Amino acid sequence: MKETDRRLGMHRDITRRDFIHDLSLASLGMALNAGAFADEGTGGMEPATELYPPIRTGMRGSHPGSFEVAHALTRKGRAFPDPTDLDEEYDLIVVGGGISGLASAYYYRKRFGEDARILILENHDDFGGHAKRNEFHQGGRMRLSWGGAMNLEYPMFSDNVNALLEELGIRIDELLEGYEFQYGSGPKGSPSIFFDEETYGRNELVHGFSFRAGGDAGLDRMIDRFPVSEESRESLKRFYTRRDNVFEGRPESDVTRILTGTSYTDFLIKYGGLTDEAADLFVKTTHGYWGVGADSLSVAECIGASLPVMHLLGEPHLNGSGDDNPGGDVAMFPDGNASIARLLVHALIPQVAPGSNAKNIAMARFDYGGLDKASHPVRLRLNSTVVNVANHDGGTRAAYVNGGRVWRVRSKHMVLACNHSIIPHLCPKMPARQKDAQKYQVKRPLILTNVLLRTSQPFDRLDISGAYCPGRLHGAVWQVKGVNTAGYRHDWQDAGPVPVMFWGSVAPPDAGLSIKEQHRASRARLLTMTFKDFEREVRTVLDAMLSPAGFAVQEDILAITVNRWPHGYAYDYLDLWDPEWPPGEAPHEIARKPFGNIAVANADAGADAYTHVAIDQARRAVEDLPG
Ligand SMILES: Cc1cc2nc3c(=O)[nH]c(=O)nc-3n(C[C@H](O)[C@H](O)[C@H](O)COP(=O)(O)OP(=O)(O)OC[C@H]3O[C@@H](n4cnc5c(N)ncnc54)[C@H](O)[C@@H]3O)c2cc1C
Repeated sequence: MKETDRRLGMHRDITRRDFIHDLSLASLGMALNAGAFADEGTGGMEPATELYPPIRTGMRGSHPGSFEVAHALTRKGRAFPDPTDLDEEYDLIVVGGGISGLASAYYYRKRFGEDARILILENHDDFGGHAKRNEFHQGGRMRLSWGGAMNLEYPMFSDNVNALLEELGIRIDELLEGYEFQYGSGPKGSPSIFFDEETYGRNELVHGFSFRAGGDAGLDRMIDRFPVSEESRESLKRFYTRRDNVFEGRPESDVTRILTGTSYTDFLIKYGGLTDEAADLFVKTTHGYWGVGADSLSVAECIGASLPVMHLLGEPHLNGSGDDNPGGDVAMFPDGNASIARLLVHALIPQVAPGSNAKNIAMARFDYGGLDKASHPVRLRLNSTVVNVANHDGGTRAAYVNGGRVWRVRSKHMVLACNHSIIPHLCPKMPARQKDAQKYQVKRPLILTNVLLRTSQPFDRLDISGAYCPGRLHGAVWQVKGVNTAGYRHDWQDAGPVPVMFWGSVAPPDAGLSIKEQHRASRARLLTMTFKDFEREVRTVLDAMLSPAGFAVQEDILAITVNRWPHGYAYDYLDLWDPEWPPGEAPHEIARKPFGNIAVANADAGADAYTHVAIDQARRAVEDLPG
């Protein structure tokens, strides 16, 4: 082992890492010639009773064992053995156990009756899709963090979404009452920027500065500490203090064309007077929020992401809101939108979490062994990758791989709530135009790495709740505290064990790639990164940033959970990369058309990466099914 790795504590035992990793590989039937776990009652599902997936650490998200079958199908065109017919017949089969798939099952029961028999097939070892939770248990206490989707963007909810939330007992006003979290900008400590030695030549934590909102008092002194050239520092000082209208006197149509046709970093250089080096500092500010660098987004889109533009358009504030909050108005559960997934599963299969409701759902312990029981009208089958679907004999049928074997089930209806890009491989008989439209959707890769620290004291001593890290793999890191809802409490005053979340995407390796090439290159890199690569990265950052405040890198890291999402946010159309389509002709509108008894859901169907979109598309898909 290298000396630097030893110093970082890479040899230390991280909770359950190897155990979990090995188990995932063995249990999910990677090798198709492996023996089956066939069982009348479970339809081939591996019994998962001894395991509770939210506590698994190590490589999660797209974890080993969850994607290999799909990649064999989509990348290698693998032909699978003839399926074994299971003696199971359903009213509905749902492909994909994310929010959209779970909501589809929910709406199906509303439309076709509570006794409808439903099977949900999901390729991961946990349900929820991107809406996953990471649970850490330390010293008799549970600490929660998000494994994926976190925000409820409630101002954008449709009546339909509001109605569903009400039926699940969720009250946004109650969630807001317990919400004291601001993505590293407070309430404890100010926003801060961490420049790292590997990228910038020295470690420098600049307290009180944010790229979005600048830093009021002592701005020059703060920028003077940036380890970049003097020319770049001076350009930043001018940029943050000037107030003018760079388009004074130009017709509105010109301004709109420039704002929607210029990348944000080009705008910073051309109109904001920044050096290339200074403009580069902004690239990762949009990584986590969009899965895209600010160099690939238009100025107009970055106004929406609260980046500083408005002060160059004649407005007093840098970014419209004048604060550092890029998230807008949001509400949250302590495990993010995993609580929505859990409430939906509870509504569908109440036996798995008796007594659960929106007020205590964060603390509920689900019985995973009860998800797939023949005696329940709704069954949720994990570790099951669907490889073929078809309309057949007045209904539908689906073939899936579980436990190393291929199984077939039948139903009257089907909803495909999976990523659209896999549908042409699952359902080759769909019309060519529809399959082309589905391939247009290339999801944006994201990473979210949770690290459980023994104590938050080093953060407290530095008076920060987190920092933006323009030079690192994850563009931001922050403590996860202060979401005191749904039965859970973790106050800012509590200096005990704390999850720290590293958040971002993977910068594409080359410049000049199209947006989809960028996503594919990032995805390829993400999939080649090992757990150790992530571990080394988070240890390096925490050591460099916190050790001056008493952090002991070898002792203070208790667990690491990497949530990698090579297929993350749904592809939304971007100013710089996508044309405008006539109504009804956009790829997602063509992609989601029903095909016989098969309807199409998922956030992809709305070309927008939000939980509420996934829910609305579920409703529409169920309405698309023939009676
Ligand atoms: C890291 C991250 C953070 C996010 N943060 C937010 C947020 O704060 N707020 C917000 O509103 N949205 C957020 N999102 C967006 C998120 O995608 C949506 O909110 C929503 O969860 C999407 O749900 P879905 O069901 O459409 O898709 P998914 O969650 O992707 O679910 C689809 C499921 O189908 C499975 N599947 C695919 N193919 C097959 C197959 N062949 N067989 C079986 N199963 C299959 C997939 O593996 C997946 O589990 C975030 C996403 C990510 C990745």
